Amino acid sequence: MPDTKETYDVIIIGAGPAGIFAVLELLKEAPRLKILLIEKGRDIEQRRCPLMQGKSSCASCSVCDLLSGWGGAGAFSDGKLSLSSEVGGHLSRYVPKETLEGLIKYVDDVYIQYGAPEKVFGEASEEIERIKNLASKNDLLFVHTRIRHIGTERCKELLKRMRIFIDEKIDVIFNNKVTRILTDGARATGVKLMTGEEYRGRFILSAPGREGSRWLEREAKRLKLTLLNNAVDVGVRVEVPASVMEPLTSVTYEPKLIYYSKAFDDRVRTFCVNPYGEVVKEYLKGVWTVNGHSYAHRKTGNTNFALLVSTYFTEPFKEPISYGRYIARLANFLGQGVIVQRLGDLRRGRRSTPERISSGIVEPTLKDTTPGDLSFVLPYRYLTDIIEMIEALDRIAPGVNSRHTLLYGVEVKFYSMQIKLTQELETEIENLFAIGDGAGVSRGLIQASASGVMAARAVLERM
Ligand SMILES: Cc1cc2nc3c(=O)[nH]c(=O)nc-3n(C[C@H](O)[C@H](O)[C@H](O)COP(=O)(O)OP(=O)(O)OC[C@H]3O[C@@H](n4cnc5c(N)ncnc54)[C@H](O)[C@@H]3O)c2cc1C
Repeated sequence: MPDTKETYDVIIIGAGPAGIFAVLELLKEAPRLKILLIEKGRDIEQRRCPLMQGKSSCASCSVCDLLSGWGGAGAFSDGKLSLSSEVGGHLSRYVPKETLEGLIKYVDDVYIQYGAPEKVFGEASEEIERIKNLASKNDLLFVHTRIRHIGTERCKELLKRMRIFIDEKIDVIFNNKVTRILTDGARATGVKLMTGEEYRGRFILSAPGREGSRWLEREAKRLKLTLLNNAVDVGVRVEVPASVMEPLTSVTYEPKLIYYSKAFDDRVRTFCVNPYGEVVKEYLKGVWTVNGHSYAHRKTGNTNFALLVSTYFTEPFKEPISYGRYIARLANFLGQGVIVQRLGDLRRGRRSTPERISSGIVEPTLKDTTPGDLSFVLPYRYLTDIIEMIEALDRIAPGVNSRHTLLYGVEVKFYSMQIKLTQELETEIENLFAIGDGAGVSRGLIQASASGVMAARAVLERM
């Protein structure tokens, strides 16, 4: 017999921004609610990734301290809050734009309350209008986004303050994983943990992030929930001298540009621009990919950003996440990790070598890479799209299309699965909500947090 424990009003799976903001909202409106938060990783002070302590290779910990634990994937993130309804998620599919903008403002204020800086980059200005016009004359769509930059170091402090506020107001279980969502067929009834205990709950909010998206997908299939196919985003991280991107980054912290390729009409976008930042490796369940950071108090001479191509697959293929992982694994297979290549070498059909990289004018900020040839990794479609986008970008930020530009591969975003949800983010099972990146409704801190608030409000309404 399973060990059945207490009954809660609300059980939340995952202590990332979605889960934490759900707790904050519930506590704000109904401080006496009995809430249980279950997190498979460790508490914020105990999170220690060997990579962040200077180790050059991943120790393949059974639970990744970089992505799991109090704060979720956001804890060591760059903490760039995108204050626009058009980026960082799909919540606009569930609520009208004005409602979403109100939610974003609400969530942003909470971040400020816990220590995010007041300064915002990219306020509307003549300069923004000028870039917008220049972009549109060059086949690019400029999405104006206001950004609040917390910075990696401050992110942790902010999350600690939230942890202290929540402490003792709810029950929190760390280092244990929800393995099953329990239902009576039509309605959620509780959760079962890895260690066998079962907890009963009237409402279940599932917020397992990208880290837990495959688990959630398996649970959704077991519970016969409808899954919607989403795009897969595959691309590279580009690194250039910071001065090259300065015409854009001095005006807007994170220039978001979208391009539709001539060859395939695919959507290619810039993502996660890090002025004066560093390229970093990211390890997810056995696969190395790339990402980028910028630190509030540590600057390099380079700017990096991702170029991601979004494609939808044709029937009967239904596994975009596996496809993305396959491409990333191919780069790992050929390069024993992340591959770096100069744009000039890619164009000339030759691999980059350590000598060619060191004779370039862009000094790589990520050293633990293998100079190689990305054309062995990325399908023709992606490479063509990326090169077209680089050419378009060069017309508004001259120098991007230099032969010295570095491309790191590959960058893949694995947040592709989406569960069919109501406008309140409830699944087809009553009282079971799915929020954050793991449910495919968000792709960033602000919308993940906002999704937590939405689900909490729906719960409060029914209480
Ligand atoms: C390196 C990096 C940099 C980033 N930079 C930015 C940025 O600058 N700006 C931005 O907006 N976004 C950024 N992001 C994305 C942002 O961190 C995520 O969008 C956000 O954290 C998603 O929140 P979430 O709550 O949905 O999921 P997560 O933050 O992933 O949290 C989910 C939590 O659930 C736990 N979990 C999973 N499965 C289970 C289970 N079965 N049982 C119990 N617990 C479980 C996980 O351990 C995890 O702690 C970055 C991400 C990374 C990895």
